[in-house]
Amino acid sequence: MEREGADFYSRVSRIAADPRARKLFHDLADGRLEAASLLITRYGELSDEDHDLEAEDANRRLEEKGLTRPSIYPHKSVETAVCFVCGEEVLVDDLPPECPFCGASGYSFESDIDEGQAFAMVRENESKRLDFYRQSMQAASGDARALLATLIQQGEECLRDLEAEGP
Ligand SMILES: [Zn+2]
Repeated sequence: MEREGADFYSRVSRIAADPRARKLFHDLADGRLEAASLLITRYGELSDEDHDLEAEDANRRLEEKGLTRPSIYPHKSVETAVCFVCGEEVLVDDLPPECPFCGASGYSFESDIDEGQAFAMVRENESKRLDFYRQSMQAASGDARALLATLIQQGEECLRDLEAEGP
């Protein structure tokens, strides 16, 4: 889930034209990568397959308790970017230096999301993420519980910072 967040924020940071929105997304991508490495430290060098099994296992335990993992990040909204000159779509992961359809510069793919919209989107994502961890914690014990407590604490600090910095 943390990698998912890092992917989401790094994509949206690549297309945000507003420099403050861009920086916000960039910082959040870093934060999610840090959380991911915390989880990797905790789970050690597991293979991808083990990670998947563990994730499935965790999901199953949550479902047994009537909890389902929410879809937190609006991935669809950042998968593609539209050229504002000709209206053609490209994948954000393969963002071209110029529009392959009309030749407009790469800037033509930038999103006009402003700082206020960026903060609102991040607050919503991060609140959902925190809710998920709080619910998971009720189903967790031992080390997993302690790890979740750390992630929740970091998430709460992040949200407080967002409230303080945001427009
Ligand atoms: Zn174009």
